[in-house]
Amino acid sequence: MKFGGTSMAGTERIRRVANIVRKQAANGDQVAVVVSAMAGETDRLVNFCREANPLYDPAEYDVVVASGEQVTSGLLALTLQALGCKARSWLGWQLPVHTVEAHAKARIEDIDSDALLASMAAGEIAVIPGFQGIGGDGRVTTLGRGGSDTSAVAVAAAIGADRCDIYTDVDGVYTTDPRIVAKARKQKAVTYEEMLELASVGAKVLQTRSVGLAMKEGVRVQVLSSFTGDDAVPADELPGTMIVSEEEMEQILEDGHMERQHVTGIAHDKNEAKIILTRVPDKPGAVANIFSPLADASINVDMIIQNVGRDKGETDVTFTVPQTDLPRAQALLEDRREDIGFNRIITDSHVAKVSVVGVGMKSHAGVASTMFKSLADRGINIQAISTSEIKVSVMIDEDETELAVRVLHTAYGLDAD
Ligand code: ADP
Ligand code: ASP
Ligand code: MG
Repeated sequence: MKFGGTSMAGTERIRRVANIVRKQAANGDQVAVVVSAMAGETDRLVNFCREANPLYDPAEYDVVVASGEQVTSGLLALTLQALGCKARSWLGWQLPVHTVEAHAKARIEDIDSDALLASMAAGEIAVIPGFQGIGGDGRVTTLGRGGSDTSAVAVAAAIGADRCDIYTDVDGVYTTDPRIVAKARKQKAVTYEEMLELASVGAKVLQTRSVGLAMKEGVRVQVLSSFTGDDAVPADELPGTMIVSEEEMEQILEDGHMERQHVTGIAHDKNEAKIILTRVPDKPGAVANIFSPLADASINVDMIIQNVGRDKGETDVTFTVPQTDLPRAQALLEDRREDIGFNRIITDSHVAKVSVVGVGMKSHAGVASTMFKSLADRGINIQAISTSEIKVSVMIDEDETELAVRVLHTAYGLDAD
C-alpha cells in the first residue's frame, strides 16, 4: 500500500490512512506500506536548499529532502501502534534500498527484503519511507520528484506482493486530469504501455519510472483513493483503476467491461521550454553539433523541428527541453556558438505540451488529424508536433493548455454524460 502526500498531510489524515491499513491487515494480509512526505513538504525542503546555496551539492540536497518521508513513516508507525497494531518503520538505509549514486535522481538497484519479510511474517506492519535509498558510497539518495510511487512498486516486486495499491487523492486514472476536466471519466483499466506513455507526457498520477518497473516486474498496480468513508468498497474488490497487461486488457474488453477507445487519455505538461537557434548552417553534422553536448549533459530533448532553409545554406532549428534544464542548455549552447555557427538563440518557457495517448491509434487512422482540426477550430496555434506509435503531442501557448485539453477531450468523445 502506498499513500501520497495529500493523504499524509497532518495527524488527522494519517489517522485515516492508519485505519485503511489496519483494515487491510485485519483481513489476514501481511502488509508493507510506503509513504510520501506531507503535501508541500518536499517543495519546502527543496527551497531551503536553494536558499542555502543556489548551486547546491545534490548529495546534501538528498540529505535534506529525504527527511520529509522519515517524518511521515515514523508518524504512521506511531498512529498504527495507537490503534493497537504492531508496526515499525524501515528507513531506506535500514532495509536497505540500494540505489545508484546519481543523487537527486537515483535509480533503485535492489532491495534487501529478508528482514522485511521476517518482520511481516511475525505480524508486524512494515512502514517504509518512499523516495529514499542508499548509494554505493553509503550516503542517502532520493529518486526524483514523485519517486515514492517507484519505491512502492520496487518494494512490491522485492517481496513478491499480490498487488501494489497506490492510494492518492483521486479514485483512479481518468481520461484526463479530473481537476481540469470535470467530465473526465474514470477508467476501469489502463495498459502498462498506455500508462507509461501518459505518465511520460505529464499525467502525474504515477511517476513514469514506477510504471516501467511494474511492467518489467509484472507487478499488479491499482490506483485508488484514500479519501473514503467507512462504507468504502474494499481495495480487494478493485474499486480503483488497474494497470494491466495488453492480454488482460483484451480479456476485460472481451468480457464487455469496457469499450476500447482510439484515445485512452489526454495529458499536459507545462514544464517544457522552447529553444530556437537561428541561421544554423544547413550541412551534415550541424544538428549533431547542437544535440551532442546537450545529451552529454543529460538534458533530454523532446520535440525537434528543422525548418526549410530560408536563405541559401542556412536553417532554423527549434526544440524543447525541460524548463528546469533551460538555463543549463542555454549556457551550453552559448559556449558553443562558434562551433555550431548559429546566429541567435531565442528561448520561450511560456509553452505547454498537450498529448493524446491510446493503443487504439495503432490500428486507426485519423487521430492526429482530429487533433489538429479541433485545435484549429478553436484558434489554438500549434508550434511543434511529435508522435510515437501510441501518442500524438503538440506544443502550444501555455495560456491555452486547459482549453486545449477540454476541446480534445470532447473531440475524442471522452466526456462523461
Ligand atoms: P500523490 O501525492 O498521491 O502522489 P499526485 O499529486 O502525485 O498524488 O498525483 C495525483 C494527481 O494527479 C491528481 O490529484 C490529479 O490532479 C493528477 N492527474 C493528472 N492526470 C491524471 C489522470 N489522468 N487521472 C487521474 N489523476 C490525474
Ligand atoms: N515527496 C516526494 C516528492 O514530492 C516523493 C513523492 O511524494 O512521491 O517528490
Ligand atoms: Mg505523486
